[in-house]
Amino acid sequence: MPRPIAAYVHADAVRHNLDVIKQRASRAKVWAVVKANAYGHGIERIYPALATADGIALLDLDEAVRIRDLGWKKPILLLEGVFQPEDVETADALGLTVAVHCDDQLDLIAAAPRSRPIDIYLKMNSGMNRLGFAPDTFRAAWERANAAESVGEITLMNHFAAADESDIDWQMDRFEAATSGIPGPRSLSNSAAVLWHERAHRDWVRPGIILYGGSPSGLSRHIADVPLRASMSLVSEIIGTQALRAAETVGYGRTFEAGHDMRIGVVACGYADGYPRHAPTGTPIAVDGIPTRVVGRVSMDMLTVDLTPCPNAGIGSKVELWGDQVKIDDVAASAGTIGYELMCALARRVPVKAR
Ligand SMILES: *Cc1c(COP(=O)(O)O)cnc(C)c1O
Repeated sequence: MPRPIAAYVHADAVRHNLDVIKQRASRAKVWAVVKANAYGHGIERIYPALATADGIALLDLDEAVRIRDLGWKKPILLLEGVFQPEDVETADALGLTVAVHCDDQLDLIAAAPRSRPIDIYLKMNSGMNRLGFAPDTFRAAWERANAAESVGEITLMNHFAAADESDIDWQMDRFEAATSGIPGPRSLSNSAAVLWHERAHRDWVRPGIILYGGSPSGLSRHIADVPLRASMSLVSEIIGTQALRAAETVGYGRTFEAGHDMRIGVVACGYADGYPRHAPTGTPIAVDGIPTRVVGRVSMDMLTVDLTPCPNAGIGSKVELWGDQVKIDDVAASAGTIGYELMCALARRVPVKAR
């Protein structure tokens, strides 16, 4: 028998979340962001849920190939653009829209004649300071792109540094000032801006994490009023129990000491499955639907839970590591990270099932 661990991917939840996004940003078109293999879900698994998206956005060319192989005829956006001349050929062959964040990328696209002009997303660095043209060079970049025969439609693109915090105005103001009078559609908003900054919705929004039911801020309470559903659950079972006497410890490093006699359960899930090793004692988890806590250190293949709230639990009891009941954001926050990372880190050895 295989280990009892499994991840479930709920395409229906993605479909539902996409509807929520379309209601929220009702005047904008929606790029469904599926980079990193759909945030660890598997592109092919959630693809059927994306039918009403206006486009699909990703980073890797092989993911773009997979999406076209699945039969997607609508736009595909390459969020980091091209890296070498061959990429432009692939982008041309697949009919991709490509981000252009620097002169080198513009050179690549301008260099060779194309079967048809390539639509681009001209990216401004309005303060994130990763990729993009500085505001004072943006207009010149646009003029150059606009003059290039191999460039088709030019969309003006921005990425927010902190749209999960209250203030995006400083970045919006820079973007608006540097683009005033330049024609063309605008695309500014990630998930956080879709939820919290209507002013930034504009022509195309680019939600990722909320498609999968995660919180853009990393905190579940920030999306408590948004009817999103979790698209990934990680489940396993209890494979052993121990009766601890007061003052006994559990696991590596003896980090948890029983304050009184108690039962613990051993769960077939560890950091080699993608569960965060830094999840401390107290991290939420559910056994047979009853909320309880992780105790002691997470090891490679196992972790241990407090069975005090679930006296009837034993070998074979169902465990939810994250999903509908245990929010991935709460597990992540306890471990000092964000739901994005846990989704993306789901290990290959975990069998993934559809539900
Ligand atoms: C990943 C990414 C997004 C989606 O971000 P979320 O926070 O997951 O919504 C949007 N735009 C760009 C350029 C990205 O790289």
